[in-house]
This record gives sequence, C-alpha cells and structure tokens, in this order.
Amino acid sequence: MERVLIVGAGLTGSLCAALLRKEASRPLHLAVWDKAGDSGGRMTTAGSPYNPQSTVDLGAQYITCTSHYAKKHQSFYDELLARGILKPLISCIEGMVIKDGDCNFVAPQGVSSIVNHYLKESGAEICFRQHVTQINLRNDKWEVSKETGSPEQFEIVVLTMPVPQILQLQGDIANLISESQRQQLESVSYSSRYALGLFYEAGTKIDVPWAGQYITSNPCIRFISIDNKKRNIESSEIGPSLVIHTTVPFGVAHLEQSIEDVQKLIFQQLENILPGLPQPVATKCQKWRHSQVTKAAANYPGQMTLHRKPFLVCGGDGFTQSNFDGCITSALRVLEALKSHI
Ligand SMILES: Cc1cc2nc3c(=O)[nH]c(=O)nc-3n(C[C@H](O)[C@H](O)[C@H](O)COP(=O)(O)OP(=O)(O)OC[C@H]3O[C@@H](n4cnc5c(N)ncnc54)[C@H](O)[C@@H]3O)c2cc1C
Repeated sequence: MERVLIVGAGLTGSLCAALLRKEASRPLHLAVWDKAGDSGGRMTTAGSPYNPQSTVDLGAQYITCTSHYAKKHQSFYDELLARGILKPLISCIEGMVIKDGDCNFVAPQGVSSIVNHYLKESGAEICFRQHVTQINLRNDKWEVSKETGSPEQFEIVVLTMPVPQILQLQGDIANLISESQRQQLESVSYSSRYALGLFYEAGTKIDVPWAGQYITSNPCIRFISIDNKKRNIESSEIGPSLVIHTTVPFGVAHLEQSIEDVQKLIFQQLENILPGLPQPVATKCQKWRHSQVTKAAANYPGQMTLHRKPFLVCGGDGFTQSNFDGCITSALRVLEALKSHI
C-alpha cells in the first residue's frame, strides 16, 4: 500500500488527512507526524495539570464564518455544527469587530476538538514527538528523517508547518525548491505573540460582565478571555480558566526572553487590567513565534508543489490566511494537486 506522510497535526494537516482518506481512489497508508506532544498546532487546547477537564484555548479563540465561506465551505460547518463540535458564540466579547453577515462559533470542548475530529475521521496513524529534520530522494521515494529514530520512506509527503519551518528542512528538499518558489516562501511572514493560560480552583469567581475583551490601551496585553465562559461551559465543579494574548509588538520585543520572565511581565500588566485576581492553581505560557500570517505566498494560492514524481507538496495558512477557512482552502488545494496521484 502507498504510504503518505503528512507533517503537522494542526488544522491543515488533519483536514488533508481526512480529505485524502475520503477522496482517494485506492487504499492509502496515512501517517501524521508532529514534533509536539499533542494535536492541534496553533489550535491547541491546554488542560490543567490538576484537572484535565479544566481547559484553555491558547491559540485560535473562535471561528468567524463570513457569508462567502458559509456557502463555499457549508459542508464543513454543517458537519461540525451537527456533531456539536462547533456551537454559536453567544457570550460577550467586548471590542470584537463584527461585520455584516458574519457568524462566530466556539468549540465547547476546546478548539483542538476540531482538529481531533478530522484526525479521527482520517484513520491515520498519528505519531507525536516526531520532529522532521531532513527529506531526501531515495529510489523514487521520500526518505524522511526525524530527530530521533530511523528514517522512513513514503511515496507522498505533505508539509503543513509554518513556512519558515519548511525552509529549515535539510537534505534534497533544499535543492528541489526553485528560485521563484524560494523567493515566495521567504516572503511569507507571521506575527509573533505570547499566550498565557491560567487555571483556577473550582468555585473561583471572576467578576467581570464579559467573556472576552480586546484591550487597546496596554503595551503588553491585547486580549483576555474567561475561556470557559467564552465556550459557554461554566460549571460549579470545574474551575474557570483564563487566556491572555499579548500584543504583537510585545511578542516581537520579548521573543528570545525566557518564558518565566515573559510570564512575570504579563502578570504585572494583568494586575493593572484586572486588579485583585485570585492566584491561579496552574499556568501555561506559550510562545507563538509564528502566530498569524501577515503576508501569504501570493503566487501559490493554497499549496506549493515542490516535486511531482514522487509527490512533495506544502500547504497551510502560509498559502492562504490564518483562520479556519484559510486552512480548509489550503487542504482542498493540496487534495486537488494530489488527486491524479491517489
Ligand atoms: C494566538 C493565535 C490566535 C489565533 N486566533 C484565531 C482565531 O480566533 N480564529 C481562527 O480561525 N484562527 C486563529 N488563529 C490562526 C489559526 O490558529 C491558524 O491559522 C491555524 O491553526 C493554522 O493551522 P495549520 O495546520 O496550518 O498550522 P499549525 O497549526 O501551525 O500546524 C503545524 C504543525 O506542524 C508541526 N511542525 C512544525 N515543524 C515540524 C517539524 N519539523 N516536524 C514535525 N512537525 C512539525 C507543529 O508542531 C504544528 O503542530 C490564531 C493563531 C494564534 C497563534
């Protein structure tokens, strides 16, 4: 059976896997590798070390569906809504810009539940802590090396990580990228920011009238959300969780600082915005070096094919835009590129 490797267990990778399983004309062995210890990528949901039911979305917060994509990607929305994986956002997010015709959704079980749904649908073999380092051509197959363990061979490889991480890969892949492709890949840029998740004991009251708030007057903090309130799953048995996103200038300025120092700085500023917050029982600070795409690869909408025989293709929000619909668009383009080979 032909072996297909998808690098990245984020939204694009999981969608590629699910679409390949559905659309392939013959059985394929699908593998998804991710360097992280869990699925989700930038749609990650962290759990409290004291209570795994207390969770917080550290990356994507809610899904905005425009009227254009409500039609174009209707089957994706219908399926997730029918399964209760997405629910309408009904809580108040102060300062959120809502355009005419837009609908907003949250994932009650955490945004990573969307990714997990597609991974499950795909039936792929999912391997975490597999950091791909090299891709080489061997006997008309791709030999993929990782930080630990032996290299493995695949007939088809799909890369879905942020573009700067594609450019870091060593081996034959580095020479296969044409000059014009390299120039496009190097032009892709991302913002950087930090996210801080705070977990509280059951029964803790956080007395604010909103579930989320965009902050415009603080140099460090851009967004705060009472995450369980945002997802409309408040309960007396599970403690509340908070997520704080920093501004991009703060993220860029502190990119190489230690996580502990950055966490302290965020806490200091949080005290100015929400004075007297109780002590959290656990915290999780996440650096998003590649947060949201600020400039996509304009000449390669949705995907870039690096090699045809054997097939090597890249996708992800670097080829579209940083949101749910951007990832669907990319996954559909990857599928289209692969269609005649599967
Ligand atoms: C702070 C923040 C807020 C956001 N808010 C929203 C929002 O509200 N709504 C919205 O729709 N979108 C939002 N986004 C954007 C959205 O999260 C992304 O567009 C989307 O998750 C990108 O998915 P992806 O699969 O393309 O990439 P990723 O999620 O980045 O997945 C790529 C995966 O590849 C893995 N990887 C990288 N290099 C390697 C390697 N060498 N070997 C193996 N694995 C590797 C990574 O670990 C990662 O899991 C936000 C993003 C951030 C960071």
